[in-house]
Amino acid sequence: MSKCPFSGTAINPTTLTSSNGAPVANDNQSRTAGPRGPVTFDNHYLFEKLAHFNRERIPERVVHARGSAAYGTFTLTKSLSDYTIADFLQQEGQQTNVFLRFSTVGGGQDSSDYARDPRGFSVKFYTEQGNWDMVGNNTPVFFLRDGIKFPDFIHSQKKNPRTNLPDPQAVYEFWANNPQSLHQSTILMSDRGIPLSYRHVNGYSSHTLSLWNKAGERYWVKWHFKTNQGIKTLTNEEAARMPAYGAQQDLVESIDNGDFPSWTVNVQIMTEEEARNYRINPFDLTKVWPHSDFPLIDVGQLELNRNVENYFAETEQAAFAPSNLVPGIGVSPDRMLQARLIGYQDAHRYRIGANYNQIPVNAPRCPVHNYQRDGAFAGVNPALAGSGANFYPNNRARVGEPAEAPEVQEPPMPLEQDAWLDIYDNRDEDNYSQAGDLYRIMSEDQKQQLVQNIADGLSQATQDVQEAMFVQYDLADKDYGARVRKAVASR
Ligand code: NDP
Repeated sequence: MSKCPFSGTAINPTTLTSSNGAPVANDNQSRTAGPRGPVTFDNHYLFEKLAHFNRERIPERVVHARGSAAYGTFTLTKSLSDYTIADFLQQEGQQTNVFLRFSTVGGGQDSSDYARDPRGFSVKFYTEQGNWDMVGNNTPVFFLRDGIKFPDFIHSQKKNPRTNLPDPQAVYEFWANNPQSLHQSTILMSDRGIPLSYRHVNGYSSHTLSLWNKAGERYWVKWHFKTNQGIKTLTNEEAARMPAYGAQQDLVESIDNGDFPSWTVNVQIMTEEEARNYRINPFDLTKVWPHSDFPLIDVGQLELNRNVENYFAETEQAAFAPSNLVPGIGVSPDRMLQARLIGYQDAHRYRIGANYNQIPVNAPRCPVHNYQRDGAFAGVNPALAGSGANFYPNNRARVGEPAEAPEVQEPPMPLEQDAWLDIYDNRDEDNYSQAGDLYRIMSEDQKQQLVQNIADGLSQATQDVQEAMFVQYDLADKDYGARVRKAVASR
């Protein structure tokens, strides 16, 4: 028995209550007018149950709706103190708690885990100076280099608006009109397009981010999380035989069994000077930095070792945002990244509400002190709902009101010299060389899988779309183009 804090009366902690805390006498029968009569209007407990039930869902994510997540630990094995003041990247051996959510991209919440689709790979680092979210994918590049194309791209890859069926014509028509997608679509159609499980994927920041140090020097950085389980994949035929929820089951069961999946964390680092002179635009999300130019540096290990207790509260309400940065980690001129800095926060406010960062899975593990106030569900964090000052600047630092920390001022970010604000056409960027580089490192078996996977969809598209795609494959590699033509012709 515990005591009601207000009245001091005894409460049995297992007593069923309504949401206002009152004991419920009967949760099996509604109140009715006689044994065979209708329910009456005074059934407020029945109405509360039904009304809450109607509100059990929040809008599902438009992309990355189907996901699985777990908690774990990041252990730093190489200090990055020369590059960054980020407090969790200073001491070798330092550990930081993380939450990692994997997902498919295009399907709804109950779609299959085995779609040919990129996999989201988002890591929330609960550092002592706030949460850093590395919101990445299992691919080092993306289909686009400009966020203005994102809604069109996603519309083209989802179901047809009339039939609600997959639409290979739209998929390839978008790609035919956007050669910048060729590198990523080559990865997607390769043998790596359908991972065996979430434990068997790599993760990449894909974007170029930055690190900055005490001296105010900035370095450009790409993050790579290489699976220690090895890359394992499925063919279309193998994937079709898997249960829709297989990747979710695999993750939950392996962690429950103590078989903790892990990733080796690497970075590629580029100086500002190297970026200015590099032959590749280092901020173009459709391109990698070849390893021969910028080798991977081992910096840590990430392990997942605890499942969520409640899927909805934790995995569904998890709100990752590339704008969740900490002192010492910054963004870059990557224009897809800038679109995401706005897009993700906006999605969370729509799905969860203004105070989404106060929900336990999203709440920083360090104190949050600011002057943002009120809104739906205010009060979860008492520091933001007390009687203290709700404006800044004020004269109350001496009584503990939060004040700025000028020592974490980010250094200025270099832009192109004499940049003029305008709309720049980048259609003639090199969209082909790196797709070709990938094709050329594939084994014969991988090449065959790639062209067959492309032919499955492209053979269902109109001839103008097929012709435009053949030209793109040719430009990546003559052999790539010739094989796709042949495979499509033989369908
Ligand atoms: P490297 O030979 O040094 O690296 C090739 C990389 O390709 C390896 O990391 C390998 O990953 C990965 N890879 C192999 N097969 C596939 C596939 N089917 N889909 C996706 N990745 C694959 O070459 P470069 O650095 O010069 O890059 C050549 C091409 O490799 C690039 O154009 C790009 O498509 C791809 N790539 C490059 C990455 C980079 O950051 N440089 C990262 C990932 C891919 P693993 O070690 O996991 O087998």
